[in-house]
Amino acid sequence: MSSPRLTVLAGPTAVGKGTVAAWIREHHPEVWLSVSATTRPARPGEVDGVHYHFMSGDDFADMVTRGEMLEWAVVHGRASYGTPRGPVQAALDDGRLPLLEIDLQGARQVRASMPEARFVFLAPPSWDELVGRLEGRGTETAEERAVRLETAKVELAAQNEFDHIIVNDDIRRAAEELVSLMRSD
Ligand code: 5GP
Repeated sequence: MSSPRLTVLAGPTAVGKGTVAAWIREHHPEVWLSVSATTRPARPGEVDGVHYHFMSGDDFADMVTRGEMLEWAVVHGRASYGTPRGPVQAALDDGRLPLLEIDLQGARQVRASMPEARFVFLAPPSWDELVGRLEGRGTETAEERAVRLETAKVELAAQNEFDHIIVNDDIRRAAEELVSLMRSD
């Protein structure tokens, strides 16, 4: 059996990356989902060690200094997010199907260090749909939404850098398309 490839899923804010990841967590135990480190506070319902490793800025900086992050970035100009390197390597060594859900800056860093990985972009059906989803979830202020939409424009412009584009018109369909891709080689 050939060893599994790392899959990186990126895409703009509010496109539904987190919901696709949650579907996969529930329905596809064969997929190993990386748990990112972040300096942002937990939202209601988020569990430390499951959704993120929530940590202080100092602890995060120490991990970066020790070279323990496969990639990391400041996202939306606010908090730092990074992928701890050790667990990803362990999952690959164990022959699991590892999936990283990260932003564009992080995807580019992984591309530079692991060009053999598979890069998938989750796209919204349309720009208006993306704006509607961001407003609809109501977790950001108007100012934060404006920052996220600026980032989203940059991210959408970069989708051609990816090996595959999946349109998130339906969570279940998009998640199953992603898992099929991951199983394909
Ligand atoms: P949220 O704060 O809404 O959970 O995530 C904000 C953004 O951070 C999302 O675009 C998500 O893809 C990105 N993100 C989450 N974890 C990581 C990570 O480990 N590395 C990078 N570069 N981005 C991440």
